[in-house]
Amino acid sequence: MLVDYQAVAIKLYKHLKTKYDKSHVPNIQILLSLLVQFFLPHIQMHELSIALGILRVAEVEAKKANAKSIERIELEIGTLAGIEFEALDFVWPSAVKGTILEHSKREINIINGEAQCVDCETIFGLDNHYDSCPKCKSNFKSILKGKELRVKSLEVS
Ligand SMILES: [Zn+2]
Repeated sequence: MLVDYQAVAIKLYKHLKTKYDKSHVPNIQILLSLLVQFFLPHIQMHELSIALGILRVAEVEAKKANAKSIERIELEIGTLAGIEFEALDFVWPSAVKGTILEHSKREINIINGEAQCVDCETIFGLDNHYDSCPKCKSNFKSILKGKELRVKSLEVS
């Protein structure tokens, strides 16, 4: 089983920030700034590159439509796509700053994982890639839903 270091790190960061941001204890401030400068940029590279990928798609589409700005962007992201939603929220503002998406309303449709057992053909909800069939316990399945990562629609003006 995988330990979700990224989620743990984000929770730790948020906890420290709310608790100590206004603190006048110098060591805590140093610790917090170290965490932000060295730790977070690395663990969120994945979501940052995803945000930049989304931005690229939006820019190409906006250009095609001759749009000056994008009012709304609708995304579809599956729970099995390997994206940490909190991390994506966290990197989003810096990824889109100064771009066509800076003031866009962002909507995310979360698509829950679904798989079909290869052995007994049962269709079941899949929370993790390694889950087995609830009916026959087989590990062989084909994933039907949950790996999506796409820009579903854009509202331009
Ligand atoms: Zn089965």
